[in-house]
Amino acid sequence: MSSVPRFAIIHAPAGRREPRLRMAPLSEDLFHNCGVAALYWLDAPPAASVVGRRRPRKRNGPAADANVRGGNVTPLMPMILLDLQNRGQLAAGLSSYHPGRDQRLDTFKDVGTVAEAFRMSHPAKHQAVLEEYAGRAVVGHTRYATCGLDDARYAQPFERHHGRLWKWFAFGFNGQIANYTEYRDRLKARRHYHFTLKTDTEILMHALAYHLRGDAVPDLSRVMAALSRSLDGAYNLVFLDAMGRMFAARDPLGFRPLSWAVEGRLLGIASESVALSNAGFRDIRDIPAGEMAVVEDGRLRFERFAGKKTHAHCFFEWVYFSNVGSTIADTSVYIARARSGERLAEAEDQTLDKSCIVVPVPDTAKAAADAYAFALGLPCLEGLLRNRYIGRTFIQPSTTRGRSAKGKYTPLPAILAGKRVFLIEDSIVRSTTLRALAGMIRTRGRAKEVHVRVACPPIVAPCFYGIDMSTLGELFAPKLVRRGYDGVPTPATLKRMAGELDLDSLKYLAVPDLGRCLNIDNRHLCLGCVTGKYPTPWGNKLIAKARRGRNAGRTYE
Ligand code: SF4
Repeated sequence: MSSVPRFAIIHAPAGRREPRLRMAPLSEDLFHNCGVAALYWLDAPPAASVVGRRRPRKRNGPAADANVRGGNVTPLMPMILLDLQNRGQLAAGLSSYHPGRDQRLDTFKDVGTVAEAFRMSHPAKHQAVLEEYAGRAVVGHTRYATCGLDDARYAQPFERHHGRLWKWFAFGFNGQIANYTEYRDRLKARRHYHFTLKTDTEILMHALAYHLRGDAVPDLSRVMAALSRSLDGAYNLVFLDAMGRMFAARDPLGFRPLSWAVEGRLLGIASESVALSNAGFRDIRDIPAGEMAVVEDGRLRFERFAGKKTHAHCFFEWVYFSNVGSTIADTSVYIARARSGERLAEAEDQTLDKSCIVVPVPDTAKAAADAYAFALGLPCLEGLLRNRYIGRTFIQPSTTRGRSAKGKYTPLPAILAGKRVFLIEDSIVRSTTLRALAGMIRTRGRAKEVHVRVACPPIVAPCFYGIDMSTLGELFAPKLVRRGYDGVPTPATLKRMAGELDLDSLKYLAVPDLGRCLNIDNRHLCLGCVTGKYPTPWGNKLIAKARRGRNAGRTYE
């Protein structure tokens, strides 16, 4: 038996599980609430009728299944989670299934980055984790919180133990339930539930348990169908039970990405395609909205659990959150960002001269900045450096976000002095970072002019589906756009905004351009935060509530 604790809490006082301080995002960084992944060593490679046929992309390096020894998939999971680290850095964990173990289903999780949680800088401890949690099936999770505290009780996967194998399960969740409060209150009032955590994940755990009740082993697609009828919002789930049944489900509108691939007998599922391709999978595809990949008796199948509706892809996945190496709905994140830069270049109306330079805000605006500069024949230079070593160890109240931006970025006068700088930013949410950066470029960088071009429309409303911008009062744009705003800011609005931020000029990507950049019709995108019109009933209810109490707390709390 190894000495690896199952629910270790880093730095907790001996004998106590102390909740950690909530760690607000560093400067204006937005964080996504989580990445999920699953691996299964199937009984045999699935038939072509199950997986279909598509010409696989070329593989660089060994195939994913070549990395699996003796059917044990656990060692691959931390590597996959590392590639999902951009989606959450507060906690990481996995649950594995091993039929030869007393604990047929067992969970390891901890607070911290993937490397911290899985003790990757201590090879012996890391190896002990991998050995203790070895299994033929595993679900994994990286966490960022849009609700709930940052202590180990909130780390996922959540495991619910039960003496009957199909009722003993673990799951990981990516998304946010928009009707969380209503659902929680209903369960409390009508079914006498008591909840110990402030998170929608606990509600999901009890709801899953409820739908797994009874003396017969329930069909998993029926469980998901019943669950989805109670939920409004974004929810990608990876689920594993003590019978070795697994599923990965994408909500009926497919807000968040979820990819799958099979290599030989190895099934891989991950929030982002880059995690699978780096693990050696080829022919990576999306799980369609409302569908689930199910493994039962060692065999893979796909099931639809919710009626076919239109997708509501979160456009922010391409603009900011997803890894630039990922592909979602057949559109490369890199290409989408580059196209937004080209569109900004098409709309440029400043007179350009030899003193103009393009500077990306590192790192997510780089692709857009390169494309913008190329289209206009301007040099794209790193006039702003980001200190990559100021990590998540900052515990930062929102009031100090502007100050931290100053510590995180360095303007280079050698590049900026005397120039008309076109600063390319991926998005403006609260504006604290941009305000600080523009000031630094002008004062420390000694730039002559600062023009900002934003590769995203103005954020005029909160997100209720898992992106950490959930109050109206914290946003920059709503105070400055006028009634009747149609997704294209007027010159007067842009002038007001530029004045507010002390910029020489400001331009945004327009809402109608989004679909063109993403190569997806706007009707298949969630545009809630840039239009105030949401793709689900609860999104629209919550924005109405938020408008009634503009500066109130998070609307779903
Ligand atoms: S409201 Fe905005 S951030 Fe939230 S899911 Fe929709 S597009 Fe994404």
